Amino acid sequence: MSVSENRLVRTVCDPNCHASPRCAITAHVVEGRITRIEPGSFPLPDYDRRICLMGMSRLEYQYHKDRLRFPLKRVGGRGEGKWHRISWDEAFDTLAERLSAIAAKFGSRSLAFFTGSGAHGVLTKGAPHRFAALIGGTAARPGGIDYGVPKGLEYAFGVPASTYFRPGGHEFADAVHSRMIIIWGGNGAETRFVDFHFVLEAQRHGAKVVCIDPNRSATAAKADQWISLRPGTDTALALSLLNEILEHGGQNDAFLRDHTNAPFLVRTDTGGFLREADVIPGGSSAYMVWDSLSERSVSLQAARAPAMTGSYRVFLAGGSALVCAPALQLLLDLCRSYPPERASVITGVPAHVIRDLARELAARKPASIRIGFGVDRWYYSDYTARAAANLVIATGNIGVAGGGISVHDGTYPQPLNQRVFRSPDGREAATLDVVSLMSAIEQGKPYPVKALWLCASNMFNQTSANRSRVMSSVVPKLELIVVADHFMTDTAEVADIVLPACTIFERLDLVPGMFLQLQHKAVEPEGESKSDFDIFAGLARRMGLGTHFSRSPEDYLREMLVTDHPLLSGITLERLQREHAVFLNRPREPYVSFRNLKFQTPSGRIEVYKEELLRYGAELPRYHEPIEASLEGPLYQRFPLVLLFSHSKHRIHSTFANMPMMKKLEPEPVVEIHPVDAQRRSMAQDQHVRVYNDRGSVNLRCRINPDLRPGVVVISEGSWVKDFPGGDPYSLTHELISPTSENYAFCDTLVEIEHVQRDG
Ligand code: SF4
Repeated sequence: MSVSENRLVRTVCDPNCHASPRCAITAHVVEGRITRIEPGSFPLPDYDRRICLMGMSRLEYQYHKDRLRFPLKRVGGRGEGKWHRISWDEAFDTLAERLSAIAAKFGSRSLAFFTGSGAHGVLTKGAPHRFAALIGGTAARPGGIDYGVPKGLEYAFGVPASTYFRPGGHEFADAVHSRMIIIWGGNGAETRFVDFHFVLEAQRHGAKVVCIDPNRSATAAKADQWISLRPGTDTALALSLLNEILEHGGQNDAFLRDHTNAPFLVRTDTGGFLREADVIPGGSSAYMVWDSLSERSVSLQAARAPAMTGSYRVFLAGGSALVCAPALQLLLDLCRSYPPERASVITGVPAHVIRDLARELAARKPASIRIGFGVDRWYYSDYTARAAANLVIATGNIGVAGGGISVHDGTYPQPLNQRVFRSPDGREAATLDVVSLMSAIEQGKPYPVKALWLCASNMFNQTSANRSRVMSSVVPKLELIVVADHFMTDTAEVADIVLPACTIFERLDLVPGMFLQLQHKAVEPEGESKSDFDIFAGLARRMGLGTHFSRSPEDYLREMLVTDHPLLSGITLERLQREHAVFLNRPREPYVSFRNLKFQTPSGRIEVYKEELLRYGAELPRYHEPIEASLEGPLYQRFPLVLLFSHSKHRIHSTFANMPMMKKLEPEPVVEIHPVDAQRRSMAQDQHVRVYNDRGSVNLRCRINPDLRPGVVVISEGSWVKDFPGGDPYSLTHELISPTSENYAFCDTLVEIEHVQRDG
């Protein structure tokens, strides 16, 4: 069928919103143009014909006057905004020549290809990866952003952080089985509202919903209880809650004994686990426990009644004696440092609230925790994740419907064989995450990166911390910047070549999730836009590598579906073309992780004590004051306000930020401030203010919001830098990275605010 015929086309909205599954959109196509869109259908009622405002803005997105329609080459200085329209032939010739020259000078790995969060089709995400592999270049790997909580949960459960803990979490729909839901540092009522009804359904059926957040968000407003805490003190709260649970016997001893390393004996001299070889000459590396029946240390397998508390004198193989303690005892000792009264001083949460919440958490089963990115974007976010996870671990809420701890949605392992597309002839690209990419560009470590190609990525907006440093120290070190996108974003503005990419209505792709959904091409591309797949195929041909991109997108999709994975059995491209969205071969019930209680940790158990983190002093999730946003820190006297970056319901990061529909609802960026803080600074609603610290400043209007916690100010992330009247908020953040979280701490930021004149 020609795309110029009148018809209805079902396709998929696929930004980084984590809707599960991503929403379907039906496009009404009349004479080759989309005249109307509406929510698309799904075979399951929970997901049928739902959409958010951003999805509904896809029509104005498609025909936005600012759409990039032709390849552009920079003719002025970087960022001057002077462009020359070029043909695709010239674009490919220029790119082939520049990439080859840079590779010859700095090595092929110096060519880096990154996809951002603007698209999630396997071809759109995979094409740059395949091209990078083909030429021996570098491709993106997860890490650096939204990675601290998954990293912490990896330490506990063994699920690689690179999966963002999806196999370790629970599907959002599983919320209906919970009797208690703790939403910790997240605002799903606004940012996941297409799925949030599952939480409300649980609440209607008697579940208690608790929201832990410094501010009274939309989610906090809908919760049964809102607990406001000082930003960055979540670990202290979690430790105190665990202390209460353990002190009052609210734990599930059998679960801790049988499925965690709580009983493992820890040597008090080294902090390492006691092994059989430590005790028996020629013994194995088996973990040792204290057997309460025989009153001696024995291997885990030999124990009949492993102790989980106390301390024990153990005779080592050489004859000396050593005091050892079960891991749970050490965790308990740590938690005892945080009785509710002390935790209250640190967190600002009243002691009785901590006591009551701990009691309810122990009593209401099943109970679940959903962690949001408000927790993630801190230096010690992995500690917080581990401390919070201990609450559902200690109460035995693991592997059961309605329980668990989730950051992103839980889901079955990805069944598509994407490797067949991404790794031509088995070749693999080198990979860097965002943090290591910045280091590779700026310092040449671990190797120099000199060319950066970005697809669906507004990287130089808010993706990396301390933007002004990135713009002054990182960007100038790049010899070539290529951006393939739909609009002249802040990132495209500093590129050397800008390429017009296809939208969801202009390309064929496959969006994975609980359903496999085809992104059908509904209309011809605007102007001379090309899909990322076609862009790389064209460039590969120009560079003499066309045989590796010679097949059609359909062929590659077919190949990805050919696996012996049972989740994909019977799912073919032809079936997807007929049915558009096909449910994986899996139970209808929402995904629940760890049903088999098997864990990929070194011990095969959930690890509440991490031997391999001893060198960081992180074997237990201790509380540390925030690295910057601390009342005790040196900057607090000068910059006494904690700046948090919230997520807006009107954009997904910077995607949709330029849509007229969204701009009507959120016309300009603002900084929100509590009335007390505003009064101290003699500020009135809507006044122009300057938010600043030693790294940067931004001018914008202030909005007085009594739902904030005093001492906290909020700017919603994702607005394009050009939308701020002066400066940018993304230069206020610091780039300090914890070695255990490997994550930017965007929220660990102190600022001050002052008046400016209206034209300031
Ligand atoms: S942006 Fe909105 S419409 Fe699009 S997938 Fe996400 S929730 Fe659905």
